[in-house]
Amino acid sequence: IIKDITEEKLSRFEGVTIDDSKKEIEELLRKAEAKEYIEFDVYYQPIVESGTKKVIAAESLLRWKNPEKGFINPVEFISVSEYLGMIGALGDVVFREAFTMCRTINKHIDSEFKMHINLSTIQLTQPDIVEHICKFARETRVKKSNIVFEVKESLAIEDMRVMQKVLIKLKQQGFFLLLDDFGIGKSSLGTLTELPFDYIKIDKSFMKAYETEQFNPNLLTAIVDLAHSLKIKVIISGIETKQQKEFLLMSDIDEYQGYYFGYPVEKDKFTFGEC
Ligand code: C2E
Ligand code: MG
Ligand code: MG
Repeated sequence: IIKDITEEKLSRFEGVTIDDSKKEIEELLRKAEAKEYIEFDVYYQPIVESGTKKVIAAESLLRWKNPEKGFINPVEFISVSEYLGMIGALGDVVFREAFTMCRTINKHIDSEFKMHINLSTIQLTQPDIVEHICKFARETRVKKSNIVFEVKESLAIEDMRVMQKVLIKLKQQGFFLLLDDFGIGKSSLGTLTELPFDYIKIDKSFMKAYETEQFNPNLLTAIVDLAHSLKIKVIISGIETKQQKEFLLMSDIDEYQGYYFGYPVEKDKFTFGEC
């Protein structure tokens, strides 16, 4: 377990104890709302192209630095914010920040830099979400084709039905779509053909099994071949070691993401070049 605790994880959990209840998060969220969410920030983690080793994209990840508790993990507060009806406002922080960051980076480079943004099921099922996102795109003047929305499969069939409609609309608007956490939970192959995904991201649990008996490289090859036959690009997440990277260089995976290439960092610390 000790080996698993990285600096990033430690800093995220600083001051937060296991006993912290959802009730406490709820109270802290209400205080944060009263302060117009200034405690929230967006961090960026590099995504590297396998062929060129260049940082060609970033995933935006919401960070909450609470004055009392230090960093609070998104896994702990996103579901509570959804329950309180605050995810819309938090999403707006991300759209504004990440779209602006994307436009700024693209102004400085010749190639196209893509910004990945996570959208939860609750966000996707909000009425007018597509128009809402388009409004932010207009205001920040970001190119829609530079934005990749990351969504996870939902267990609820009804959610998937609504999501399908929204995702098709986003796609028609020119945004790119990614199926996140591929390979865990449901992740049915049907989803890949029913929804217009441009990318899949293989869940970090896959590489976590590297060097254990559970690790199956043939499965990886099969996933990549299947995705490519559907014209879907493959990103793999959770790359933490040089050995993992070197193993992956022998595969046809398109893009890499993980602590080995870079931690999520604040806007001013984000660098891109070759890895
Ligand atoms: P996700 O979209 O699957 O994000 C990937 C998570 O893996 C991030 O955790 C990231 O910091 C972490 N990670 C990246 N590389 C590595 C690695 O090499 N090893 C390990 N062990 N972990 C790695 P984070 O930032 O705590 O986010 C957790 C989840 O919270 C995200 O999962 C996403 O579902 C949600 N989330 C974060 N930001 C947003 C946001 O802006 N909007 C929405 N709706 N959800 C968000
Ligand atoms: Mg994601
Ligand atoms: Mg994930």
